[in-house]
Amino acid sequence: MNLLEKCKSIKNHEITAIDNLNGYVKVIEEKNPDINAFLEINHEKALKTAEEIDSRIENGDKVGKLAGMVIGIKSNINVEDFIISAASNTLENYQGSYDATVIKRIKENDGIIIGMTNMDEFAAGSSTESSYFGPTDNPTAPGRIPGGSSGGSAAAIAAEMCDLALGSDTGGSIRNPASHCGVMGFKPTYGGVSRQGLLDLAMSLDQIGPLARDTSGIALMLDVISGMDPKECTTLDWEVPQFTSLVENGEDSLKGMKLGVVKQFQEVTDDAIVKIIEKSIDKMSDMGAEVVELSFDNIDLCLPTYYLINYVEFFSATRKYDGRKYGYKIEDVCGEEVLRRIHMGSYISQQEFSGKYYKKALQARSLIRKEITQLLNGVDVIVSPTVPKLPHKLGDTLEPMEMYAYDVLTVIANLAGIPASSQKAGDVNGIPVGLQMQAKPLDDDKIIHAMAALESSS
Ligand code: GLN
Repeated sequence: MNLLEKCKSIKNHEITAIDNLNGYVKVIEEKNPDINAFLEINHEKALKTAEEIDSRIENGDKVGKLAGMVIGIKSNINVEDFIISAASNTLENYQGSYDATVIKRIKENDGIIIGMTNMDEFAAGSSTESSYFGPTDNPTAPGRIPGGSSGGSAAAIAAEMCDLALGSDTGGSIRNPASHCGVMGFKPTYGGVSRQGLLDLAMSLDQIGPLARDTSGIALMLDVISGMDPKECTTLDWEVPQFTSLVENGEDSLKGMKLGVVKQFQEVTDDAIVKIIEKSIDKMSDMGAEVVELSFDNIDLCLPTYYLINYVEFFSATRKYDGRKYGYKIEDVCGEEVLRRIHMGSYISQQEFSGKYYKKALQARSLIRKEITQLLNGVDVIVSPTVPKLPHKLGDTLEPMEMYAYDVLTVIANLAGIPASSQKAGDVNGIPVGLQMQAKPLDDDKIIHAMAALESSS
Protein backbone atom coordinates (compact mmCIF):
# COMPACT_ATOMS: atom_id res chain seq x y z
CA MET A 1 0.00 0.00 0.00
CA ASN A 2 1.53 3.31 -1.00
CA LEU A 3 1.10 6.48 1.06
CA LEU A 4 -1.70 7.82 -1.08
CA GLU A 5 -3.64 4.56 -0.67
CA LYS A 6 -2.95 4.61 3.06
CA CYS A 7 -4.27 8.14 3.31
CA LYS A 8 -7.43 7.00 1.47
CA SER A 9 -7.82 4.06 3.86
CA ILE A 10 -7.75 6.49 6.77
CA LYS A 11 -10.42 8.62 5.12
CA ASN A 12 -12.48 5.46 4.42
CA HIS A 13 -12.32 4.33 8.03
CA GLU A 14 -10.26 1.24 7.32
CA ILE A 15 -7.37 2.53 9.42
CA THR A 16 -7.71 5.12 12.17
CA ALA A 17 -5.45 8.14 12.45
CA ILE A 18 -4.91 7.18 16.08
CA ASP A 19 -3.63 3.70 15.22
CA ASN A 20 -1.42 5.14 12.53
CA LEU A 21 0.05 7.63 14.99
CA ASN A 22 0.51 5.16 17.85
CA GLY A 23 2.24 2.68 15.55
CA TYR A 24 4.84 5.29 14.70
CA VAL A 25 5.25 6.49 18.28
CA LYS A 26 6.06 2.92 19.28
CA VAL A 27 8.80 2.76 16.64
CA ILE A 28 10.16 6.14 17.71
CA GLU A 29 10.30 5.03 21.33
CA GLU A 30 12.10 1.86 20.33
CA LYS A 31 14.55 3.18 17.79
CA ASN A 32 15.09 6.88 18.36
CA PRO A 33 17.46 6.52 21.33
CA ASP A 34 19.92 4.84 18.93
CA ILE A 35 19.14 6.64 15.68
CA ASN A 36 18.59 10.19 17.04
CA ALA A 37 16.39 11.22 14.11
CA PHE A 38 13.94 13.20 16.27
CA LEU A 39 15.08 15.93 18.68
CA GLU A 40 11.61 16.44 20.13
CA ILE A 41 8.24 14.74 19.86
CA ASN A 42 4.85 15.70 21.25
CA HIS A 43 2.73 12.58 21.40
CA GLU A 44 -0.02 14.16 23.47
CA LYS A 45 -0.66 17.01 21.10
CA ALA A 46 -0.48 14.70 18.09
CA LEU A 47 -2.95 12.32 19.74
CA LYS A 48 -5.44 15.14 20.20
CA THR A 49 -5.20 16.00 16.52
CA ALA A 50 -5.57 12.34 15.54
CA GLU A 51 -8.67 11.93 17.75
CA GLU A 52 -10.23 14.99 16.26
CA ILE A 53 -9.56 13.78 12.70
CA ASP A 54 -11.00 10.33 13.43
CA SER A 55 -14.16 11.79 14.90
CA ARG A 56 -14.65 14.03 11.89
CA ILE A 57 -14.23 11.04 9.60
CA GLU A 58 -16.74 9.07 11.69
CA ASN A 59 -19.23 11.89 11.41
CA GLY A 60 -18.80 12.03 7.68
CA ASP A 61 -17.31 15.55 7.83
CA LYS A 62 -14.80 16.73 5.31
CA VAL A 63 -11.13 16.19 6.10
CA GLY A 64 -8.01 17.54 4.42
CA LYS A 65 -5.66 16.00 1.94
CA LEU A 66 -3.14 14.81 4.54
CA ALA A 67 -5.74 13.43 6.95
CA GLY A 68 -3.99 11.19 9.47
CA MET A 69 -0.53 11.35 7.92
CA VAL A 70 2.19 11.50 10.59
CA ILE A 71 4.82 14.10 9.79
CA GLY A 72 8.30 15.05 11.04
CA ILE A 73 9.60 18.58 10.57
CA LYS A 74 13.22 19.72 10.25
CA SER A 75 14.22 21.81 13.25
CA ASN A 76 14.78 24.97 11.20
CA ILE A 77 11.11 25.40 10.23
CA ASN A 78 8.89 27.27 12.67
CA VAL A 79 6.17 25.21 14.33
CA GLU A 80 4.29 26.78 17.21
CA ASP A 81 5.21 25.35 20.62
CA PHE A 82 8.10 23.20 19.42
CA ILE A 83 11.79 24.00 19.93
CA ILE A 84 13.18 25.53 16.73
CA SER A 85 16.85 25.07 17.51
CA ALA A 86 18.27 24.51 14.00
CA ALA A 87 20.30 21.94 15.98
CA SER A 88 22.40 24.77 17.41
CA ASN A 89 23.35 25.68 20.94
CA THR A 90 22.56 29.26 19.87
CA LEU A 91 18.81 28.57 19.79
CA GLU A 92 18.66 25.58 22.11
CA ASN A 93 15.74 27.02 24.09
CA TYR A 94 14.01 28.92 21.30
CA GLN A 95 10.36 27.98 21.18
CA GLY A 96 8.45 28.57 17.96
CA SER A 97 5.77 31.20 18.46
CA TYR A 98 4.06 30.80 15.08
CA ASP A 99 3.57 28.35 12.23
CA ALA A 100 5.53 28.75 8.98
CA THR A 101 3.28 28.92 5.91
CA VAL A 102 4.05 25.29 5.00
CA ILE A 103 3.09 24.23 8.54
CA LYS A 104 -0.17 26.17 8.37
CA ARG A 105 -1.02 24.37 5.15
CA ILE A 106 -0.14 20.98 6.63
CA LYS A 107 -2.37 21.65 9.64
CA GLU A 108 -5.23 22.95 7.48
CA ASN A 109 -5.00 19.68 5.58
CA ASP A 110 -5.12 17.58 8.75
CA GLY A 111 -1.53 16.37 8.78
CA ILE A 112 -0.35 15.30 12.23
CA ILE A 113 2.93 16.87 13.28
CA ILE A 114 4.72 14.46 15.57
CA GLY A 115 7.97 16.33 16.15
CA MET A 116 11.16 18.06 15.10
CA THR A 117 14.02 16.28 13.36
CA ASN A 118 17.79 16.46 13.72
CA MET A 119 20.01 18.28 11.23
CA ASP A 120 23.42 19.85 10.74
CA GLU A 121 23.76 23.06 12.77
CA PHE A 122 21.90 25.79 10.84
CA ALA A 123 21.70 23.35 7.88
CA ALA A 124 25.39 23.96 7.14
CA GLY A 125 26.65 20.49 6.36
CA SER A 126 26.20 17.20 4.54
CA SER A 127 26.32 14.63 7.30
CA THR A 128 24.18 15.67 10.32
CA GLU A 129 27.33 15.27 12.42
CA SER A 130 27.51 18.96 13.30
CA SER A 131 24.25 18.91 15.29
CA TYR A 132 24.68 20.25 18.80
CA PHE A 133 22.48 17.33 19.86
CA GLY A 134 24.75 14.64 18.44
CA PRO A 135 24.77 12.85 15.09
CA THR A 136 21.99 10.78 13.53
CA ASP A 137 22.69 7.19 12.50
CA ASN A 138 21.74 5.90 9.06
CA PRO A 139 18.96 3.30 9.58
CA THR A 140 19.61 1.69 6.18
CA ALA A 141 23.40 1.52 6.55
CA PRO A 142 23.96 1.53 10.32
CA GLY A 143 27.20 3.10 11.50
CA ARG A 144 27.31 5.50 8.56
CA ILE A 145 26.22 9.10 8.25
CA PRO A 146 22.63 9.58 7.06
CA GLY A 147 23.76 12.52 4.91
CA GLY A 148 22.65 16.04 5.57
CA SER A 149 21.72 18.51 6.44
CA SER A 150 18.16 17.07 6.70
CA GLY A 151 19.58 13.80 8.02
CA GLY A 152 17.01 13.46 10.81
CA SER A 153 14.12 13.76 8.35
CA ALA A 154 15.59 11.17 5.99
CA ALA A 155 16.45 8.79 8.82
CA ALA A 156 12.95 9.16 10.30
CA ILE A 157 11.46 8.07 6.98
CA ALA A 158 13.97 5.25 6.49
CA ALA A 159 13.37 3.93 10.04
CA GLU A 160 9.58 4.13 9.52
CA MET A 161 9.08 6.65 12.31
CA CYS A 162 6.61 8.73 10.27
CA ASP A 163 4.82 8.89 6.90
CA LEU A 164 6.26 12.14 5.62
CA ALA A 165 8.89 14.68 6.55
CA LEU A 166 9.92 18.18 5.59
CA GLY A 167 13.49 19.21 4.94
CA SER A 168 15.21 22.24 3.52
CA ASP A 169 17.61 22.21 0.59
CA THR A 170 20.17 24.94 -0.04
CA GLY A 171 22.78 22.89 -1.87
CA GLY A 172 21.38 19.38 -1.61
CA SER A 173 20.18 18.99 1.96
CA ILE A 174 17.00 17.13 1.03
CA ARG A 175 18.42 15.08 -1.84
CA ASN A 176 21.72 14.14 -0.21
CA PRO A 177 20.25 12.44 2.90
CA ALA A 178 17.45 10.94 0.79
CA SER A 179 20.18 9.36 -1.33
CA HIS A 180 22.23 8.06 1.60
CA CYS A 181 19.19 6.67 3.45
CA GLY A 182 17.52 5.16 0.37
CA VAL A 183 14.32 7.26 0.47
CA MET A 184 12.71 9.85 -1.81
CA GLY A 185 13.39 13.56 -1.58
CA PHE A 186 12.30 16.54 -3.63
CA LYS A 187 13.56 20.10 -3.91
CA PRO A 188 10.93 22.21 -5.67
CA THR A 189 11.61 25.02 -8.14
CA TYR A 190 12.90 28.09 -6.27
CA GLY A 191 9.77 30.05 -5.37
CA GLY A 192 7.46 27.07 -5.88
CA VAL A 193 7.02 26.63 -2.12
CA SER A 194 6.98 29.38 0.50
CA ARG A 195 10.08 29.82 2.65
CA GLN A 196 8.24 31.97 5.16
CA GLY A 197 9.13 30.69 8.63
CA LEU A 198 12.30 28.88 7.54
CA LEU A 199 15.50 29.90 9.33
CA ASP A 200 17.65 30.80 6.37
CA LEU A 201 21.00 29.35 5.54
CA ALA A 202 21.36 31.20 2.21
CA MET A 203 18.08 32.74 1.18
CA SER A 204 18.68 32.92 -2.57
CA LEU A 205 19.25 29.14 -2.58
CA ASP A 206 17.00 27.74 0.18
CA GLN A 207 13.84 25.73 -0.58
CA ILE A 208 11.59 23.64 1.65
CA GLY A 209 10.57 20.24 0.30
CA PRO A 210 9.29 16.75 1.22
CA LEU A 211 10.88 13.40 2.00
CA ALA A 212 8.88 10.17 1.89
CA ARG A 213 9.25 6.47 1.22
CA ASP A 214 7.42 6.64 -2.13
CA THR A 215 6.55 9.08 -4.90
CA SER A 216 2.89 9.27 -3.91
CA GLY A 217 3.94 10.66 -0.53
CA ILE A 218 6.12 13.28 -2.18
CA ALA A 219 3.20 14.22 -4.44
CA LEU A 220 0.76 14.43 -1.52
CA MET A 221 2.98 16.84 0.36
CA LEU A 222 3.72 18.92 -2.73
CA ASP A 223 -0.01 19.28 -3.43
CA VAL A 224 -0.39 20.84 0.01
CA ILE A 225 2.66 23.06 0.40
CA SER A 226 3.17 24.39 -3.15
CA GLY A 227 1.91 27.69 -4.42
CA MET A 228 2.06 31.43 -4.05
CA ASP A 229 2.27 32.92 -0.55
CA PRO A 230 1.47 36.62 -0.20
CA LYS A 231 3.73 36.66 2.88
CA GLU A 232 6.82 35.60 0.94
CA CYS A 233 7.98 37.77 -1.92
CA THR A 234 10.09 35.13 -3.69
CA THR A 235 7.16 32.73 -4.16
CA LEU A 236 5.88 32.42 -7.70
CA ASP A 237 2.30 32.88 -8.74
CA TRP A 238 2.16 29.56 -10.56
CA GLU A 239 -0.49 27.09 -11.59
CA VAL A 240 0.28 24.24 -9.19
CA PRO A 241 -0.17 20.87 -10.91
CA GLN A 242 -2.19 18.12 -9.21
CA PHE A 243 0.88 16.13 -8.29
CA THR A 244 -1.08 13.22 -6.81
CA SER A 245 -3.14 12.73 -9.94
CA LEU A 246 0.10 12.39 -11.89
CA VAL A 247 1.03 9.49 -9.66
CA GLU A 248 -2.48 7.99 -9.52
CA ASN A 249 -3.19 8.08 -13.22
CA GLY A 250 0.48 7.99 -14.03
CA GLU A 251 1.21 6.16 -17.19
CA ASP A 252 4.16 3.98 -16.39
CA SER A 253 5.46 4.48 -19.86
CA LEU A 254 8.19 7.00 -20.47
CA LYS A 255 7.49 7.00 -24.19
CA GLY A 256 8.39 10.32 -25.72
CA MET A 257 10.37 11.50 -22.71
CA LYS A 258 13.88 12.73 -23.39
CA LEU A 259 16.44 12.01 -20.69
CA GLY A 260 19.71 13.88 -20.64
CA VAL A 261 22.84 12.17 -19.34
CA VAL A 262 25.75 14.49 -18.63
CA LYS A 263 29.21 13.05 -19.19
CA GLN A 264 30.90 15.19 -16.52
CA PHE A 265 28.37 14.19 -13.85
CA GLN A 266 29.40 10.56 -14.31
CA GLU A 267 33.11 11.44 -14.42
CA VAL A 268 33.16 13.02 -10.97
CA THR A 269 31.32 10.01 -9.47
CA ASP A 270 32.73 6.77 -8.02
CA ASP A 271 32.50 3.84 -10.45
CA ALA A 272 30.31 1.62 -8.29
CA ILE A 273 27.70 4.40 -8.16
CA VAL A 274 27.89 5.13 -11.89
CA LYS A 275 27.21 1.45 -12.66
CA ILE A 276 23.98 1.52 -10.66
CA ILE A 277 22.81 4.76 -12.26
CA GLU A 278 23.53 3.37 -15.71
CA LYS A 279 21.31 0.38 -14.96
CA SER A 280 18.44 2.71 -14.06
CA ILE A 281 18.99 4.69 -17.23
CA ASP A 282 18.83 1.46 -19.25
CA LYS A 283 15.57 0.59 -17.49
CA MET A 284 14.11 3.97 -18.35
CA SER A 285 15.20 3.58 -21.93
CA ASP A 286 13.47 0.17 -22.02
CA MET A 287 10.34 1.97 -20.81
CA GLY A 288 10.41 4.16 -23.89
CA ALA A 289 12.59 7.12 -22.92
CA GLU A 290 15.07 8.51 -25.39
CA VAL A 291 18.54 9.01 -23.90
CA VAL A 292 20.53 12.04 -25.04
CA GLU A 293 24.21 12.55 -24.17
CA LEU A 294 25.09 16.01 -22.91
CA SER A 295 28.15 17.94 -21.79
CA PHE A 296 28.27 20.44 -18.90
CA ASP A 297 31.56 22.33 -19.06
CA ASN A 298 31.27 24.50 -15.95
CA ILE A 299 31.35 21.63 -13.46
CA ASP A 300 34.52 22.90 -11.73
CA LEU A 301 32.90 26.27 -11.06
CA CYS A 302 29.96 24.85 -9.13
CA LEU A 303 31.36 24.20 -5.65
CA PRO A 304 33.44 27.42 -5.31
CA THR A 305 30.51 29.49 -6.58
CA TYR A 306 28.02 27.80 -4.27
CA TYR A 307 30.16 28.03 -1.13
CA LEU A 308 31.16 31.64 -1.71
CA ILE A 309 27.53 32.71 -2.06
CA ASN A 310 26.56 30.51 0.88
CA TYR A 311 29.19 32.10 3.19
CA VAL A 312 28.13 35.65 2.35
CA GLU A 313 24.39 35.09 2.66
CA PHE A 314 24.78 32.98 5.80
CA PHE A 315 27.01 35.59 7.44
CA SER A 316 24.32 38.19 6.79
CA ALA A 317 21.54 35.90 8.06
CA THR A 318 23.39 35.22 11.33
CA ARG A 319 23.69 38.89 12.32
CA LYS A 320 20.33 38.64 14.08
CA TYR A 321 21.73 36.04 16.50
CA ASP A 322 23.54 38.64 18.55
CA GLY A 323 22.28 37.30 21.87
CA ARG A 324 20.15 40.36 22.61
CA LYS A 325 16.58 39.40 21.67
CA TYR A 326 16.77 35.63 21.96
CA GLY A 327 19.28 32.83 22.26
CA TYR A 328 23.01 33.22 22.68
CA LYS A 329 25.41 35.21 20.56
CA ILE A 330 26.14 32.82 17.73
CA GLU A 331 29.93 33.23 17.63
CA ASP A 332 30.14 32.45 21.35
CA VAL A 333 28.52 29.03 21.16
CA CYS A 334 28.35 27.70 17.59
CA GLY A 335 30.29 24.78 16.13
CA GLU A 336 33.34 24.82 13.91
CA GLU A 337 31.66 24.79 10.48
CA VAL A 338 29.20 27.55 11.32
CA LEU A 339 32.06 29.68 12.68
CA ARG A 340 34.12 29.04 9.54
CA ARG A 341 31.24 30.30 7.39
CA ILE A 342 30.70 33.38 9.54
CA HIS A 343 34.41 34.30 9.38
CA MET A 344 34.67 33.65 5.65
CA GLY A 345 31.42 35.47 4.93
CA SER A 346 32.56 38.46 6.96
CA TYR A 347 35.92 38.59 5.18
CA ILE A 348 34.39 38.28 1.70
CA SER A 349 31.81 40.96 2.50
CA GLN A 350 34.59 43.33 3.59
CA GLN A 351 36.49 42.76 0.36
CA GLU A 352 33.37 43.45 -1.63
CA PHE A 353 33.96 47.16 -2.23
CA SER A 354 36.46 46.01 -4.89
CA GLY A 355 34.14 43.33 -6.26
CA LYS A 356 36.84 40.80 -5.52
CA TYR A 357 34.91 37.63 -4.79
CA TYR A 358 31.15 37.95 -4.44
CA LYS A 359 30.58 39.81 -7.69
CA LYS A 360 32.59 37.13 -9.49
CA ALA A 361 30.58 34.40 -7.78
CA LEU A 362 27.37 36.01 -9.03
CA GLN A 363 28.78 36.09 -12.55
CA ALA A 364 29.75 32.43 -12.27
CA ARG A 365 26.26 31.66 -10.99
CA SER A 366 24.78 33.23 -14.15
CA LEU A 367 27.04 31.10 -16.31
CA ILE A 368 26.05 27.92 -14.49
CA ARG A 369 22.36 28.79 -14.71
CA LYS A 370 22.66 29.56 -18.41
CA GLU A 371 24.49 26.35 -19.23
CA ILE A 372 22.15 24.02 -17.32
CA THR A 373 19.06 25.78 -18.69
CA GLN A 374 20.39 25.42 -22.22
CA LEU A 375 20.90 21.71 -21.68
CA LEU A 376 17.38 21.43 -20.28
CA ASN A 377 15.95 23.10 -23.36
CA GLY A 378 16.79 19.97 -25.33
CA VAL A 379 15.55 17.33 -22.86
CA ASP A 380 12.75 16.84 -20.32
CA VAL A 381 14.84 15.67 -17.41
CA ILE A 382 18.56 15.31 -16.66
CA VAL A 383 19.37 12.07 -14.85
CA SER A 384 22.51 11.63 -12.75
CA PRO A 385 23.78 10.27 -9.47
CA THR A 386 22.61 12.41 -6.53
CA VAL A 387 25.86 12.16 -4.58
CA PRO A 388 29.22 11.14 -6.11
CA LYS A 389 30.39 9.11 -3.10
CA LEU A 390 28.97 6.67 -0.57
CA PRO A 391 28.34 7.96 2.97
CA HIS A 392 31.35 7.76 5.30
CA LYS A 393 31.40 5.99 8.65
CA LEU A 394 30.26 7.93 11.69
CA GLY A 395 33.34 9.04 13.57
CA ASP A 396 35.60 9.39 10.49
CA THR A 397 36.95 12.92 10.27
CA LEU A 398 36.77 14.65 6.93
CA GLU A 399 38.52 17.83 5.80
CA PRO A 400 36.06 20.63 4.92
CA MET A 401 36.83 20.20 1.21
CA GLU A 402 36.10 16.48 1.40
CA MET A 403 32.76 17.24 3.03
CA TYR A 404 31.96 19.88 0.40
CA ALA A 405 32.78 17.37 -2.36
CA TYR A 406 29.58 15.47 -1.54
CA ASP A 407 27.62 18.42 -2.95
CA VAL A 408 29.07 18.79 -6.43
CA LEU A 409 26.03 17.30 -8.20
CA THR A 410 23.33 18.85 -6.04
CA VAL A 411 24.36 22.53 -5.82
CA ILE A 412 23.64 23.16 -9.51
CA ALA A 413 19.86 22.94 -9.01
CA ASN A 414 20.01 25.54 -6.20
CA LEU A 415 22.28 27.89 -8.13
CA ALA A 416 19.89 27.65 -11.09
CA GLY A 417 16.63 27.58 -9.09
CA ILE A 418 15.45 24.41 -10.84
CA PRO A 419 13.51 21.46 -9.36
CA ALA A 420 15.42 18.28 -8.48
CA SER A 421 14.70 14.94 -6.82
CA SER A 422 16.45 11.91 -5.43
CA GLN A 423 15.22 8.33 -5.27
CA LYS A 424 16.87 5.00 -4.59
CA ALA A 425 18.46 3.38 -7.64
CA GLY A 426 20.20 0.48 -5.93
CA ASP A 427 22.87 -0.26 -3.35
CA VAL A 428 26.54 -1.08 -2.96
CA ASN A 429 26.82 -3.82 -0.31
CA GLY A 430 23.64 -2.58 1.32
CA ILE A 431 24.58 1.12 1.18
CA PRO A 432 21.88 2.98 -0.79
CA VAL A 433 22.66 4.89 -3.98
CA GLY A 434 20.36 7.71 -5.09
CA LEU A 435 19.42 8.84 -8.58
CA GLN A 436 18.83 12.53 -9.18
CA MET A 437 16.50 14.10 -11.73
CA GLN A 438 16.58 17.80 -12.63
CA ALA A 439 14.21 19.73 -14.89
CA LYS A 440 13.44 23.28 -16.04
CA PRO A 441 11.91 25.78 -13.58
CA LEU A 442 8.29 24.81 -12.87
CA ASP A 443 8.66 21.45 -14.62
CA ASP A 444 8.40 19.81 -11.19
CA ASP A 445 5.57 17.65 -12.57
CA LYS A 446 7.83 16.09 -15.21
CA ILE A 447 10.15 14.89 -12.48
CA ILE A 448 7.26 13.45 -10.44
CA HIS A 449 6.02 11.58 -13.51
CA ALA A 450 9.46 10.12 -14.23
CA MET A 451 10.04 9.28 -10.55
CA ALA A 452 6.77 7.35 -10.41
CA ALA A 453 7.59 5.49 -13.62
CA LEU A 454 11.05 4.46 -12.45
CA GLU A 455 9.64 3.47 -9.05
CA SER A 456 7.04 1.24 -10.72
CA SER A 457 9.78 -0.67 -12.53
CA SER A 458 11.63 -1.76 -9.40
N1 GLN B 1 26.01 20.64 2.17
C1 GLN B 1 25.68 21.94 1.70
C2 GLN B 1 26.21 22.99 2.65
O1 GLN B 1 26.85 22.62 3.57
C3 GLN B 1 24.20 22.06 1.51
C4 GLN B 1 23.46 22.37 2.76
C5 GLN B 1 21.97 22.52 2.54
O2 GLN B 1 21.44 22.24 1.48
N2 GLN B 1 21.31 23.05 3.56
O3 GLN B 1 26.00 24.13 2.50
